[in-house]
Amino acid sequence: MSLDFSWHQFVTILKYKMEQKGKHLILVDRFFPSSKLCSNCGYKKDDLKLDDREWTCPQCLAHHHRDINASENIEKEGKRILREKNIKIIRDNDTAVGTTVNAFGEDVRLSLGEQFSMNYESIAL
Ligand SMILES: [Zn+2]
Repeated sequence: MSLDFSWHQFVTILKYKMEQKGKHLILVDRFFPSSKLCSNCGYKKDDLKLDDREWTCPQCLAHHHRDINASENIEKEGKRILREKNIKIIRDNDTAVGTTVNAFGEDVRLSLGEQFSMNYESIAL
């Protein structure tokens, strides 16, 4: 069994389980530059190196820890994809996110901890 097959199987089962609970699995594109984008202003730092663990945005001067900044960008991108799919986020704070699927008239409630966004780039095997 290859690692690729295991990964595909994992994603398939996770998607199935989440859909059973009325939740959304959002996969962020592997080429999405989650580490290089400033999660505060959107500036893209093209010269960020793999061993740069922290960096300061030259545009807004926000100071970033590489992984925390990347996770914030992945969350934002996941929410952008939800909106692109016409899934409206109706409540968004530290404890809960509610969404309404307008196209189908469904009312779906999600908790933030159960939302899942993923970046293949960030998976180290
Ligand atoms: Zn910035």
